[in-house]
Amino acid sequence: MSRDSVVMLKEDHKEVPQTSPRHRVVVIGSGFGGLFFARAMRRTDADITLIARTSHHLFQPLLYQVATGILSQGEIAPATREILARQKNARVILGDVTGIDVGARTVTSELLGQQVVTAYDSLLVAAGAGQSYFGNAHFARHAPGMKSIDDALELRGRIFGAFEAAEIAESEAERGRLLTFVIVGAGPTGVEMAGQIAELASRTLKRDFRSIDPGAARVILLDAAPAVLTSFGEKLGDHARSRLEKMGVEVMLATMVTDLDAASVTVRDPDGGSRRIAAVTKVWAAGVAASPLAGQLAEQTGAGLDRAGRIEVQGDLTLPGHPEVFVVGDMAALKDCPGVAQVAIQGARYAADQISRRLDGQPARGPFKYSDKGSMATISRFSAVASIGRFQFGGFIAWLLWLAIHIAYIVGFKHRVTTLLHWAVSFLGRGRAERATTEQQVFARNAIDDLGEGYSPTLPR
Ligand SMILES: Cc1cc2nc3c(=O)[nH]c(=O)nc-3n(C[C@H](O)[C@H](O)[C@H](O)COP(=O)(O)OP(=O)(O)OC[C@H]3O[C@@H](n4cnc5c(N)ncnc54)[C@H](O)[C@@H]3O)c2cc1C
Repeated sequence: MSRDSVVMLKEDHKEVPQTSPRHRVVVIGSGFGGLFFARAMRRTDADITLIARTSHHLFQPLLYQVATGILSQGEIAPATREILARQKNARVILGDVTGIDVGARTVTSELLGQQVVTAYDSLLVAAGAGQSYFGNAHFARHAPGMKSIDDALELRGRIFGAFEAAEIAESEAERGRLLTFVIVGAGPTGVEMAGQIAELASRTLKRDFRSIDPGAARVILLDAAPAVLTSFGEKLGDHARSRLEKMGVEVMLATMVTDLDAASVTVRDPDGGSRRIAAVTKVWAAGVAASPLAGQLAEQTGAGLDRAGRIEVQGDLTLPGHPEVFVVGDMAALKDCPGVAQVAIQGARYAADQISRRLDGQPARGPFKYSDKGSMATISRFSAVASIGRFQFGGFIAWLLWLAIHIAYIVGFKHRVTTLLHWAVSFLGRGRAERATTEQQVFARNAIDDLGEGYSPTLPR
C-alpha cells in the first residue's frame, strides 16, 4: 500500500488516488468525540477525513426536547460539513463504517450500496453506543430508544399521537391505555422524558382537547434499580423522585420489565409478583451497547470488551500493539469514566494532542486523565439537579446552570439563538413550537425492519 489514500468504488472498481505526502488521519463518528477531535486537529499538518453515518453532529443531551416538541431537530443537529467547511485540512464522507482493517490501515464505509475504502496513518474511532434491550431486541418494536433524531421524531409522533387517538377512543379502557406513558430507565434521560411528558400533558395540552383531560394522563417511570438517578447519589436521587411525584409521575423502582407488546408492559414487582400495565406509548431509556466496531477492533488487536461491549483501551487511549489507533467516548472502556459528553470531548482533545506531538517530534504526554466537571439532569422547567465536585444541589439554580452549560455546548451561533427562543416559548409560556409529526416518522422504522435483513437502499446507476 502506498502512502496515498485510495478511495475505491466497489461497483465499478474505480480507484481515485489522492497524492498527499501529509499524515492521513481518519475519524469515525461525528459525535462529541469525532467532531471535537477533528476541530482540535485544525492547525496540524495532517489531512483529516471524518466518516460518519449521519450528516450531522448530534447534541444527544437535548433529544428529549425534540421528542416532546420543544426543539426542532435542526437546532440540535447542525450539518457536520457546514461546521468543518472552513477547516481546509478536513473533509467529510457520509457512510456507514462496516470494516476497519488495522493491519492494512484502512476503513471501509458504505453509502447506498457504494463501498469506499479510506487509508489512514492514524485513526480515531468514536462511534459511540446504541440502545441495549438486555437481550430482548424485540422490545424495540414497541419501545423506541432515545439515541437518534429518528428515535426522537418517532417518539414525538407516538406521544402527541396517543392524545389524538385518546380524543376519539370509544371506551374508558382504550382511553386509559392511550393516556398511559411508560418510561423504562430512571437515569437522566428517563427522568427528563418523564418530567417533560408530565408537563406536556398538564400544561401545554391543557386546553387543546374536548373529550379528554390531558392532565389525567398517567406517566410511569420504572427501573430495576432501587433508586432514581443512581449515578447522582442518594440525596439528588431522592430530590428528583419527590419532584417527579409532585408532578404526578408514578415512580416504580426495583421493578423489572419482563415483557412488552403494542398495548402493554409486563413487570415483575419487588415482591416477585407479575403485573401487566396497559400502555400504548413506551420509551426505552435503559441500557447502552457500544458500537459493534468495538468488537471488530477487539478481535484484531486482542483488547478486551466489557459487559456493554466497550473496548478496553490503554492509558493513552490507543489499542494494544497499535499506537496509531485511538478509541474515545462511549465505545471506550476506561476506569472511572462515565458515558458522558465530557469524557468524549476530553479524550478527543487528548488524542489530537498526542498525534500533533508525534508529528512535531515532541515527547508523548502521560496517560489520559478525565477531569470530572460534574453532571446535571433536568426534571421539569425551573427544576434540575446538579452534582459538581463536593457540591450537590437541586432546584432553580441547578436549572439555570443546566441552561447556561447546554447553550454553551450547542454548536453554532444561530442554533443557540433559536434554541433560546424556543425555550422562552416553552418555559415562560405554555407553548411548544415543534408539534408537527408525520405518519412516516411513527411507522417507517418498523416498516423498514419488516423488509428484512436483505433490504438495503441503493442509488440508481
Ligand atoms: C438521550 C441522551 C441524553 C444524554 N444526556 C447527556 C447529558 O446531559 N450530559 C452528558 O454529558 N452526556 C449526555 N449523554 C451522553 C453523551 O451524549 C455521550 O456520552 C456522547 O455523545 C458520546 O460521544 P461519542 O462521540 O462517543 O458518541 P456519539 O456522540 O454517540 O457519536 C457517535 C458517532 O458515530 C457515528 N457512528 C456510529 N456508528 C457508525 C458507523 N458504523 N459508521 C459511521 N459512523 C458511525 C454516529 O453517527 C455518530 O456521529 C446523553 C446521551 C443520550 C443518548
